[in-house]
Amino acid sequence: MTGYTTIPYTIAFANELVKDPIAFEPCAGRLRLAYQPSQPGDWIKPPGAESWELGILRARVRDLRNKPDQRGSERMRKLNARRQWRCMDKLLCQVCGSPAMDPKTRLIPWPLTKTVFERTGLDSGRTNAPPTCWSCIPKALEECPMLRADFTLYTVRAVESAGVLADLYRPGIFHEPVLTAHNAFVSWDAPQYHPRTLAVAKVLELHGMKQVGP
Ligand SMILES: [Zn+2]
Repeated sequence: MTGYTTIPYTIAFANELVKDPIAFEPCAGRLRLAYQPSQPGDWIKPPGAESWELGILRARVRDLRNKPDQRGSERMRKLNARRQWRCMDKLLCQVCGSPAMDPKTRLIPWPLTKTVFERTGLDSGRTNAPPTCWSCIPKALEECPMLRADFTLYTVRAVESAGVLADLYRPGIFHEPVLTAHNAFVSWDAPQYHPRTLAVAKVLELHGMKQVGP
């Protein structure tokens, strides 16, 4: 797509996308998804899990944002899983990549659209969309058609790691992966799904949400 003056921090570039093959392989007495060949850094360890063998496979992606001559063109509909993860871990703005928390109020501004938000309580909910800092919000609304069409602006007091957004697979006859669900939420508390999960984004539960915009 063209016409964007800013390429948001979380947006993927063509040459960052990786199409390495995945397959089910035996591990610790069961089958789990793995890249072929696998690398130790492929798995994310769920909070509280005892070993890396109980990890969740995360979609491989390169990080070439700071290499404009190598990264290729932006893919406005694709997120870079590693930068999305970093934004969620460190509460970085999805547009500029700087800390999103308002240093005065200690609140985090968070514009959300219905498609990326699931309410879990009166002032809480889950999302895979990172926050946006106050200075980037006007620009984000101006340039992002999805956000402009339907969004609510909240401030958030605290966050909790909830799980991942993922594609789920089951092993076929030859252990080949058969897709069973696309963009499904997998909780850290549902270990029975973890060996079948290919995580594409980290999901946070937001607490102390207060609506401050439309
Ligand atoms: Zn920003």
